[in-house]
Amino acid sequence: MTRKLGSGSLVIATHNAGKLKEISALLDPYGVKCISAGSLGLTEPAETGTTFVQNALIKARAAAEASGLAALADDSGLSVAALDGRPGVYTADWAERQWFEGLPGRDWYMAMGKVEGMLAEKGADVDRSAAFHCVLAIAWPDGEHAIYEGRCEGALVWPPRGDKGFGYDPVFVPAGRSETFAEIPPEEKHAISHRADAFAKLVAEQFGV
Ligand code: IMP
Repeated sequence: MTRKLGSGSLVIATHNAGKLKEISALLDPYGVKCISAGSLGLTEPAETGTTFVQNALIKARAAAEASGLAALADDSGLSVAALDGRPGVYTADWAERQWFEGLPGRDWYMAMGKVEGMLAEKGADVDRSAAFHCVLAIAWPDGEHAIYEGRCEGALVWPPRGDKGFGYDPVFVPAGRSETFAEIPPEEKHAISHRADAFAKLVAEQFGV
C-alpha cells in the first residue's frame, strides 16, 4: 500500500515561485504545510534522468535526503508522437538559446519552431498528435516514494496562437477543443491540464478525495 503524507510539512522541491504557490494552494485544504526547497537553502540536483519519472524522483529524493522531511517534486514536458516522444525530458532545453544559437536565455518561439521544422520534414500528412506529461514524485527520507503521472492529449498547430500561458502553449490544442492552451483562460487550462490530472491522482490516493 502506498505510504500516506498525512498533515504536516512537505518540502516542495522547486525554486520556481509560481509552482510553489500553485502547489501550496492545492495542498493547503488537506492540512499540508508546504516549505520551499529554496527557503531551506537546498541546491537543485542535475536532472540526469531520461524519463519524467526519473527526473521527478531525482529532485524529490535530493530534497528529502537533505531536509529529513517528505518532499514533492514535479517534472513535465511535451512528447510529440511523430518525433518518438521528443522533446520529452528535454522540453525546456530545446528553448535554451545556448543549444542552438550559442546565446544565453530561453526562446520559446525558437523551441516551437524547432518542433515544427522537424514535423515539416516528415511531410504534409505527418501525425501531429502530442501530449503534455506531468509526473509528481513524493519521496520520504527513508527512501520510500510514490509516483503520480498525468497527461493531456492533443495536437500541434502552426503558426502559434494566443498570448496566455507559457512555454509551448501557443501550438498545443488539447483534445476536444479548437483553441490552443494559450487561447484558453488559465482557470480552464488548469482544470484540464496534465498537472491537474497528476494532482487529481495524488489527492485521490493521498487524501482519499
Ligand atoms: P519543468 O517540469 O519545470 O522541467 O518544465 C518542463 C518544460 O515543459 C517547461 O519549461 C515548459 O516548456 C514545458 N511545459 C510544461 N508544462 C507546460 C504547460 O502547461 N504549457 C506549456 N509548456 C509546458
